[in-house]
Amino acid sequence: SDKEEALLAKARAIGSEFVYEPEDVAKGVREYLNLMEAGLKHPKQAMTMIPTYVTAVPNGTEKGVYLAVDLGGTNFRVCSIHLHGDSKFTLTQAKTPIPKELMIGTSKGLFSFLAKQIEDFVKKHHSDHFEPEAENSQLKLGFTFSFPVEQVALNKGYLIRWTKGFDIQDAIGKDVCELLQKEIDALGLPVRVVALVNDTVGTLMARSYTSPGKAGTLLGAIFGTGTNGAYVEKLSRIPKLSNNTENYGEYDSSSGVMVINTEWGAFDNAMKVLPDTPYDRALDKNSVNPGMQMFEKRVSGMFLGEILRNAIVALMADGLFNVAHGTSIDENGPLFTPWSIDTSALSTIQADYTSSYTLTKQLLERDMGVSAASTGDAMAVKALVYGIGKRSARLSAIPIAATAIATGAYENYKTARFEAAEGEEVEKIDIGVDGSVVEYYPGFERYLREALRDIQPLVPGAAGLEEAIRIGIAKDGSGVGAALIALVA
Ligand code: ADP
Repeated sequence: SDKEEALLAKARAIGSEFVYEPEDVAKGVREYLNLMEAGLKHPKQAMTMIPTYVTAVPNGTEKGVYLAVDLGGTNFRVCSIHLHGDSKFTLTQAKTPIPKELMIGTSKGLFSFLAKQIEDFVKKHHSDHFEPEAENSQLKLGFTFSFPVEQVALNKGYLIRWTKGFDIQDAIGKDVCELLQKEIDALGLPVRVVALVNDTVGTLMARSYTSPGKAGTLLGAIFGTGTNGAYVEKLSRIPKLSNNTENYGEYDSSSGVMVINTEWGAFDNAMKVLPDTPYDRALDKNSVNPGMQMFEKRVSGMFLGEILRNAIVALMADGLFNVAHGTSIDENGPLFTPWSIDTSALSTIQADYTSSYTLTKQLLERDMGVSAASTGDAMAVKALVYGIGKRSARLSAIPIAATAIATGAYENYKTARFEAAEGEEVEKIDIGVDGSVVEYYPGFERYLREALRDIQPLVPGAAGLEEAIRIGIAKDGSGVGAALIALVA
C-alpha cells in the first residue's frame, strides 16, 4: 500500500542517518591517533591511556595453578585456573550473588564476605594448600575489579568511585588489594593478592595465552555492556611514565613494553569526528553522564537498544507505523520507556531471514508492546537495526586500525612479509575480543573488516591492513587473564 511505501521510505531515510562513510572512519582513525598520543604524554586526558604495570604478555607456555576473583557487578566469582603450558587450561569456579545490603554497607562488610567466599572455595578445591609444611603453599590471586581505580603498582590501586549500584563510602581512596588481603589474612588463608586486574587487560592476556601464534596478542578489546581496550605499548612511547608526571610507581622495564588500558569508551568526547544523530543526542541527554563515554554510547550493548528505541519513536511519529493495519502499540509500554529495549533485540532482528519477518514480529510483540505488526512494520524496524548495528561495527574498526598503525605492529608485519621466503607464512597481528555484541551481533566482524578495508586508501600506512589482522574470541578473560597476571607478578 501507499502507506507501507511511505513507511519504508521513512525507515530507509532514518537508517541512512546511521551510514558511516569510509572518509568518516578514516577521520576517526586520524583523531584516535592524536588522542592516543595525547593520553600517552599527559595525565588526565579524556582518553586516559592508563599504565597497568603489566609488562609482558603470555605465549601459551605458562604453567601453574592460580586463583582469580572477579568483582564487577551482581556476582562475585572465585576460580582457580590450571595453566597446562600448551595454550590450554582448566578452570574451576564458584559464583555467588553479592547481597544487596553489602553493596551499600561498609568495606569491612563487603571484603570479609569476599574473603569468606575465597575460604570456602580454597577449602573445597585446594585443601592441600592448608598443610603448613607444603612447599609453595601460598596461592597467588589475581583480583579483577571493574570499578575506576588509580593503579600505582601491579597489586595496588586506590578506589576512585563506585559504579553499578555499589556505594561504600569508607572504601573510597583505599587500596582495594589491601582491603581484600586484610580479610584474607584474618581468616588465615594461604592466599596472596598479587595483581589488580582490569577486565580488558584480562582479555588481552587470556587471548595471548590461547592464541595460535607465538608472537603474542597486540590488543584485547571488549564489546559488551561497555567497550574498552588494552594493548601492548613500547615504554619509549609512554612519555608520561618516564617523566613520571603522576607519581607512577615502580615497574620492571626489562621487556621494554607495558600494557596500556586505553579507556577508549571516552574516545572523542569532544565530538570532533563521531557521528551524531538525533537518536544519539536523545540518548545522551537521558543518560546518567551526558557528554561522557561518547564512543561507548555509539558502540556497546548498554546503548544500542536505546538508540533503536529512539529511532523507532521517530519512525512512528507521523502515524505511519502500524496504525494502517489496525494493530496496537502499548503507549505505556517499552517503546515509550527509556532504556527498556535490550541490545540482544538487535541481534535477533538482524538475524531474521524468515520470509515474513516472523521473528521480528514476535519480538515486537513480546519486548516492545507492538501487537500484530505487519511485514512492512517489521521490515522498517529491520532497516533501522541494520543501520545502528553496522555503524557500531564500523566505529569499532577505529581503535583497532589506529592501534595496529601507531604501535608499529603493522609496519613490522609488512617488513616480515617483505623478508619472508616465498610461500612462508607470516604471523598476523592478533586481536582478542570479548563481549556479547561482538560475539552475537550477526556480521559484526564482517562489517568491522569492511571498514578496515575502506580506510586503506585514506590513512597513510594502512594499505593492506585488513588482511594483516586476525580477530579471535578470548574466552573466560577475567579468570584466565587474572591468573596470567598473577603469574607474571
Ligand atoms: P559484560 O560486558 O557486562 O561482561 P556481556 O558481554 O554479556 O557482559 O554484555 C552484556 C551486554 O550485551 C548487554 O548490554 C546486553 O544488552 C548485550 N547483549 C546481550 N546479548 C546480546 C546479543 N545476543 N546480541 C547483542 N548484544 C547482546
